[in-house]
Amino acid sequence: MTSQELRTHLAELSRVRSEKDPVVSLYLDIRWSDEQQRERVRVYTQERMRAALAGRPRGEEEGLARTLDLVRDHVGEVCDRTAGEGQRGLALFACSAIGLWKPLYFQAPLANQLLLDRVPRLLPLSQLAAELEPALLAVVSVRGAHLYQVAMGEVTNEVTVAGPMPRRVGDDTFSAGAQEQFERAEKNARHVDQLLARFRRLAADELVHLFEAAPRSRVVLFGPRQALSSFERELPERVKERIVARYPAPAEGNDGRREGRDEVLARAQEALAAQRARDELARIDGTVGQALRGSLSVLGLEDVVLALNERRVSRLLLESDFDADGWRCRQCGALGSDHARSCSYCEGPLELVPSMGEELVRRVLAEDGEVQVVSRSNKLHSYQGVAAQLRQGAGTGLSGTPSQPWAT
Ligand SMILES: [Zn+2]
Repeated sequence: MTSQELRTHLAELSRVRSEKDPVVSLYLDIRWSDEQQRERVRVYTQERMRAALAGRPRGEEEGLARTLDLVRDHVGEVCDRTAGEGQRGLALFACSAIGLWKPLYFQAPLANQLLLDRVPRLLPLSQLAAELEPALLAVVSVRGAHLYQVAMGEVTNEVTVAGPMPRRVGDDTFSAGAQEQFERAEKNARHVDQLLARFRRLAADELVHLFEAAPRSRVVLFGPRQALSSFERELPERVKERIVARYPAPAEGNDGRREGRDEVLARAQEALAAQRARDELARIDGTVGQALRGSLSVLGLEDVVLALNERRVSRLLLESDFDADGWRCRQCGALGSDHARSCSYCEGPLELVPSMGEELVRRVLAEDGEVQVVSRSNKLHSYQGVAAQLRQGAGTGLSGTPSQPWAT
């Protein structure tokens, strides 16, 4: 699955709501290190399903039991390895009353969770989407490069673009005079340089080609300094801007052989994680700064909810351990974070939203906005761990009445 496909799934799921039977969201870690692990997953699912059924109000059990039967069967297949073999994480969303059935497999593990709600619980999945951004890795040598395309944490494509090892001749031509020998060697050296330059360009072109297919990719380079700087000169600015780290060639396999693969992948993951952390902090800084200047960003739950009701959020920043409850209007769908008795927009009746973080994420995704789940930082934490960047062209007067309240 590409990150674009995951975004499409997230957008689709964010619009799902079941008024009658609850939606089951099941996340599982399905790395089968041993037989016990499969048994643990089976037992975990059984126990959580039993507890879920026991805790339901009368009238909801039957529909939920139907959904859970399907879930149980599917988890059985996964544990028997007839489904999802070779994968590490499963996210399954199901509700038989509305015909929802969506099992999604990932190369990254997901912490075990079974959640019931009117809506799919998408927070763990949107967090995964942020972590599994696409990347391009290039192991560069004087002869060209070996390229890896990484999507959702796995290598999806590998290409080698490298010329043959050049043979520099000219020393064995004893019959020729000194001047002639020198000229021949010069000519040969020029020829070799041209050849190497051609393969360098071909390798760079291939990297650019892969980049065009996934323009959000980060780029990590490996290789001797000299080879790297010649290679980088062949890259257009938009690709250069995405380079997050440069490393020496791996201990082995710098000529495109596969031996250095694990080292390359592990280093790249480190570099990407470090870049993600830097991006996160920079984005939090930028958002807080903007909000304090009164332009295009808001801080804290109340203002974020207000902006969401006005459909103005382009990007939500949410701490991973964000926790708050709130309300949702049954009539117009607006959200609120205060202790109101009726909807502040239409005076309609309210229902409790036990997990506002989930609701915020869902709404932003449904509006084609971006969600960034961040680790705790002092700066964001002093604003309840939530902030939002607003769409360009949106006004910032939050006291006005919404032109178009949320409606589902
Ligand atoms: Zn309302």
